[in-house]
Amino acid sequence: MHNITFVRGDGIGPEISDAVMEIIKNAGVDINWDVQTAGADVIEEEGVPLPERVINSLKKNKIGLKSPVTTPIGKGFRSVNVQLRKELNLYANLRPCYNLPNIKTRYDNVDIVVVRENTEDLYAGIERQIDENTAESIKRITREASEKIAEFAFNYALKNNRKEVCVVTKANICKLSDGLFLESARNIAKKYNSVNFREILVDNCCMQLVQDPNQFDVLLLPNLYGDIVSDLCAGLVGGLGVAQGANIGDECALFEPVHGSAPDIAGKDLANPTALLLSAVEMLNYIGETKAGAHIKDALFNTLKQGIKTKDIGGSAKCSEFKESIIRNLQVC
Ligand code: ATP
Repeated sequence: MHNITFVRGDGIGPEISDAVMEIIKNAGVDINWDVQTAGADVIEEEGVPLPERVINSLKKNKIGLKSPVTTPIGKGFRSVNVQLRKELNLYANLRPCYNLPNIKTRYDNVDIVVVRENTEDLYAGIERQIDENTAESIKRITREASEKIAEFAFNYALKNNRKEVCVVTKANICKLSDGLFLESARNIAKKYNSVNFREILVDNCCMQLVQDPNQFDVLLLPNLYGDIVSDLCAGLVGGLGVAQGANIGDECALFEPVHGSAPDIAGKDLANPTALLLSAVEMLNYIGETKAGAHIKDALFNTLKQGIKTKDIGGSAKCSEFKESIIRNLQVC
């Protein structure tokens, strides 16, 4: 029996959460879910979108699955995602992007893993208002965090038979901050002779990604470029509805889709649960439930092959119909 925190989120969060929990239950994994609410729905009662109880539950269970949680814009709340990553020191953000069956995209055989530093850069939240017409945000990069994420990327490449790590920066302009990130990656690369090391500037990387994504393997990026480039990569393989993610630290791991709470389609049974489901599959692999993980992935792939798809990926199935089909496929495969 695994004790796992489930953050249900808001917007489309509750509907995709319920779908994914039901699929996992049908795969026969014994999980004791500690379901935690967060986001816009809890502010009125608890005053904040991320109550302390959510953090405490994650600290206790050490593993979490999370649906998107909205941070209200301009109300003085810190981003829930940034806060969680900081409080739990989830320094590595891992976003695998690969083609799925029967989802029409511009390129075949895309198989890129984005490794994004998760704790600093412009997301450290160090901002100041100089005067009414001028504001500054500090881009903070440290050697310690940069070497740690570089080590994570190379180690991941080694363990997963990846051939290359490509570090992405704008070190020709941000000479000190991105320069330090690049220098740290170069230092770590020296320890991993069997993994090829490549350097690219972020603007060129974006251009190359849309022209020839198959040339890339593992991408290593500071926080802001990682956020942007991983959405670009999601677009290469079918969009946000299928883009999975994981935040990993030394103590804790939190698995979550790349997408936000999609308020435009919330409550309409239109959301695609694939991104959360694939995040859950990675979580199952992480806790050693690899058989169940593979079983769920097969059932998902068979559903897609049968042409049952949600609207965002070119189909007409509702979220509930898509889920039912995956459960049916779990029973036959
Ligand atoms: P955030 O800033 O919180 O990441 P965002 O503004 O990037 O959010 P999302 O909420 O991720 O936006 O949604 C962007 C678009 O993608 C929306 O139009 C939404 O309908 C679509 N979308 C996102 N996730 C899904 C999903 N799981 N299924 C279907 N459509 C989705």
